[in-house]
Amino acid sequence: MLVTMKEILAEAEKDKSAIGCINTPNMEMLRGIIAAAEELNTPIIIDHAQVHDSLIPVEQIGPYMVEHAKKAKVPVCVHVDHGRDMSFIMRCIQAGFSSVMYDRSDLSFEENLKAVQDFVPIAHAGGLTVEAEFDVMPSGEVDTHDGTSVDQTDLSAYMTDPQQAARFAEETNVDAIACLIGTVHGFYNTEPKLDIQRVRDCRKAVKDDCRLVLHGASGVPESQVQQAVGAGISKINYYSYMSTAVPPKLVEFINSSKEEVFYHELAVKAEEIIKDLSKHTMQVFMNKN
Ligand SMILES: [Zn+2]
Repeated sequence: MLVTMKEILAEAEKDKSAIGCINTPNMEMLRGIIAAAEELNTPIIIDHAQVHDSLIPVEQIGPYMVEHAKKAKVPVCVHVDHGRDMSFIMRCIQAGFSSVMYDRSDLSFEENLKAVQDFVPIAHAGGLTVEAEFDVMPSGEVDTHDGTSVDQTDLSAYMTDPQQAARFAEETNVDAIACLIGTVHGFYNTEPKLDIQRVRDCRKAVKDDCRLVLHGASGVPESQVQQAVGAGISKINYYSYMSTAVPPKLVEFINSSKEEVFYHELAVKAEEIIKDLSKHTMQVFMNKN
């Protein structure tokens, strides 16, 4: 069934677990991830990123995402990932999405706060939930704000201030807020070290009905992810690692096949691989071990 973020994240936090939020820019991703959630009987968030709209526009993949969510045996939230332009966000809402990340981290803190403050009442009136981000998360080794290089061994300049998070949540009434606790988007060249105490501090400072979100979980040791979940993270964005894990497994499949491989067989195999990988990831996020 199609749900918003709010109903599933509050429940997850109470349960000291987190819901995965995974990009689904094609049918194999979409079907594999929903099948995994159904097998584990857990809610899931699927999302379409603005940067993936050039791969497949939301007018094409969006209706499939919404349809699969409605028909799923588990609650599925269909979310906009890093929506920066209102025109893109409106196209997603038109496709039937139930939730939006309105990412105006390109603006100053005050301008961002104002933009999110203006958007939240409109989104809530339409029955949608909203996530925001006010810090600038590096992309790999690059500062996405000014293009300078980032030393991943010292991410202290890229951490969320709990008091700022509290003010942002209070004044915007946003449903979820992305917290920087030592992660980057994309890939790591050194083992990440999450600031778990910062999650606790953010959780304590931010109002109770606003959830905390972790972006950049790809490549973070599972034990650290689980500590962050235990400390108050209830939504985890995950994509890069899973997406890049699929091609080598397909190569293995092609190389081990005795006969010629049809292209449609590759799509079926990819879906199976994605289901297995995302099942594992969701189990880590559920934090039940
Ligand atoms: Zn992100």
